[in-house]
Amino acid sequence: MAATAPSRFYLEMPVQFLKGVGERRAQLLDRLNIHTAGDLLFHVPHRYDDASTITPIGSVDVGQEVTIIGRVISKGILPTRKGLRIFQAVLRDDSGMIEAAWPGQPFLDRSVQKNDVLLVSGPCRFFHGRQLQPREWVNLGAEDPGSAAGRVLAVYPVTEGITVRQLRALIDQHLEALAPLVEEHLPDELRASLGLPGIQEALRWVHRPATLAEAERGRDRLAFDELFFVQILHRRANAVARAPRAGIAFEVKRTLTTALKDALPYQLTGAQTRAIREIFADMGSPRRMHRLLQGDVGSGKTVVAVFASLLAMENGYQAALMAPTELLAEQHVRTLAGLLTPLGIAPVLFTGSLSSGARREAEARLASTEPLLVVGTHALVQEATAFGRLGLAIIDEQHRFGVEHRAALGGKGDRPDTLLMSATPIPRSLALTLYGDLDVSILDERPPGRRPVTTLLRRPSAHDKVMTFLDRELAKGRQGYIVYPIIEASEKLALKAATTMYDELSSGILAARRLALLHGRIGAEERDAIMRRFRDGEIDVLVATTVIEVGIDVPNATVMIVEHPERFGLSQLHQLRGRVGRGAEESYCILVGGGGPDTAARLQVLVDTDDGFEIARADLGLRGMGDLFGERQSGLPMFRVADPMRDEALNVRAREAATAVMEADPDLRSPAHRALRKVLGQRYARAMELFRVG
Ligand code: ADP
Ligand code: MG
Repeated sequence: MAATAPSRFYLEMPVQFLKGVGERRAQLLDRLNIHTAGDLLFHVPHRYDDASTITPIGSVDVGQEVTIIGRVISKGILPTRKGLRIFQAVLRDDSGMIEAAWPGQPFLDRSVQKNDVLLVSGPCRFFHGRQLQPREWVNLGAEDPGSAAGRVLAVYPVTEGITVRQLRALIDQHLEALAPLVEEHLPDELRASLGLPGIQEALRWVHRPATLAEAERGRDRLAFDELFFVQILHRRANAVARAPRAGIAFEVKRTLTTALKDALPYQLTGAQTRAIREIFADMGSPRRMHRLLQGDVGSGKTVVAVFASLLAMENGYQAALMAPTELLAEQHVRTLAGLLTPLGIAPVLFTGSLSSGARREAEARLASTEPLLVVGTHALVQEATAFGRLGLAIIDEQHRFGVEHRAALGGKGDRPDTLLMSATPIPRSLALTLYGDLDVSILDERPPGRRPVTTLLRRPSAHDKVMTFLDRELAKGRQGYIVYPIIEASEKLALKAATTMYDELSSGILAARRLALLHGRIGAEERDAIMRRFRDGEIDVLVATTVIEVGIDVPNATVMIVEHPERFGLSQLHQLRGRVGRGAEESYCILVGGGGPDTAARLQVLVDTDDGFEIARADLGLRGMGDLFGERQSGLPMFRVADPMRDEALNVRAREAATAVMEADPDLRSPAHRALRKVLGQRYARAMELFRVG
């Protein structure tokens, strides 16, 4: 049936309708980011077991975690006194025999036959002798265990409620029907020159490899695709952003810029001075600036942006600063007003919630040729918003925006220079992959006077003590945050949730305090209203999810409590910690939880260092990049297969290949690139805006 179905339709079909899935399982697959039949096909193993990891049965010890291969020499169902029925099999290889037991799975007696060869992984415990408890296993059928030893077993990422075995069986069941539907999108010539297998072959190899080498070649092809697509999008973003400018080069006139320097209540740090110099050099050249300013939370990026804005203004141009939330935009306006009042400049606020009168007035000013500094949200890039003379586009917390938003602001006005700002420090090689070929300035020096935040790890059993500590701080007139990994409690995850804990705390330990609940399902307007009340001291504690990660600056908040910190990336925790320690008082970040020794060691990094760069490195080293850049965060689809940190060589080839393709065919219009354009549109729909603005 599959082969005759229209292919795209079939791959895009909700996974729920695949045989063997159904509604309940579809919900589980959803958590693995598997929404369609095609997603299932592209859900690739994260590990393989093969002969090199197989233990001879004779040398399996109690207490060990092992993978073995053995032939079933006897089997049967064993009832227990409690009514539980256990399927048991005795497995043998050349070195010995072992019993394996599957409690509660008597039905296996039908599918596992005597003389079948099983590949089994799991712990070995002592129960009337050695007994293996299979966690993952596969029936290799009646093959010769010798040849089975050469088999490679795919191990997939799973989630609670679905086992590796079930997922493997599901993929096995559909692989042959789905793989032929995937269209080859790399031009043959390119593929041949890079020695990459075809896409269908690669998919078969990653799911059912005959050898580890085959699995790796298949994986490399899929990883190459991801890196290559992103590089194509970057080439395009850069082509759009860097189109030659119609002759404007900013000139340092030393009117506004020098006035700010004189009026500044503090001395610039060395790093700030350096960054400003780099930006001024870019803005002074006729080439369009496309620069990323990286600096840890509190490193003082805003004032650097103000200097750049004033350079634009003293040349008669407008500057726009785009922030991810209304609250952050308002906060910026307040800070900037403080810096710019002595210069007789008032920044303009431009957000979706301006009154219609204020909005019309602001729109009129933007559309005029008056030099100004406007601070706003993505309202700035709406179609209706027009600039009379935009010369500089600045994007704060740029990882919160998609590629197309960044390009859209740059697309307003007279091909403005672009400055991206980010508090998530990433290695340069990674920045290149994620953001394309841009220049980078780094603020690696903190302004003096900021007190380090005291960071503590506490066991869950200390929960009440921690809350009592918070209560004492509140009694002194301070404020605090409590962050949970999830909004609502679920049976599947034994995690504390913001909603339940809000109820529990406000009728318990913190009953005397003014608490507010804040999470992503609360509408943006109400969320901003709550934040404002917190800022104005009308709320003592925000019980929240990570929505507070960006954008709030309340110097009176001195306590940040994070429950289940093991559920967060280190950089994310560092960002959360950055919400406190903004005033003169001693501040605390208390991480409550921590699971096993691995997690404790990981969290210890936060206790040991306050350096965001070091923390990001640890994050990358420890957990791969998924945690650093969720899909929502980076604006780019997350890599499913590729790891830009480790796949450096592949990445270089992807960059070269993308450059060659885009030089030959910048709009991807040639027939050889038809399939490529199509798959880009399907996978990266939002980013494909770039091919429309150009
Ligand atoms: P971020 O890089 O996180 O955006 P900000 O620009 O908000 O940091 O700056 C954080 C704080 O440091 C602000 O209160 C700002 O006024 C202050 N600041 C910035 N530069 C300096 C400096 N050179 N000396 C002293 N304080 C500074
Ligand atoms: Mg900032």
